[in-house]
Amino acid sequence: MSKTENVKNPDAPLVDGVEVLAQALMDLVDLLDEDRCRDWLFDVVRPGEMGKVCPLCSEPMGERRLKTYRALKKTSCQSCHNQYSATKNTIFHGCHLTPSELVVMSALIKVGANPATIATAIGKSEDTARVWIAKLNNDKVRHG
Ligand SMILES: [Zn+2]
Repeated sequence: MSKTENVKNPDAPLVDGVEVLAQALMDLVDLLDEDRCRDWLFDVVRPGEMGKVCPLCSEPMGERRLKTYRALKKTSCQSCHNQYSATKNTIFHGCHLTPSELVVMSALIKVGANPATIATAIGKSEDTARVWIAKLNNDKVRHG
């Protein structure tokens, strides 16, 4: 495809016929390292010492439980026996977005991207994007 064949948006920058900006937006989530994004999300919801203790009774966690906790999986406390995950009592609890989708969406919201752009980037609906724009601009990340 030559530059003149780009009828959808004649001003879009092309490299060998590929719309670079649109392609980057659509591919961004897949280009990120999911493990690093998961670590990032964990540190956002459980920063510092908070990430090493039971969120319910503050008992320090053993190494095995800590690994499960940092993986954002459900674990239980050896002291109070309650079950929890790192996102419990946060706006991210039970959300159907991957850590890399949350990173991309949060960054795009920060730079003022519109719902359509965010929806394209994370592969979700514009309504989903609007809900998260409101949540991330108005809510506290952690409620407990
Ligand atoms: Zn506990």
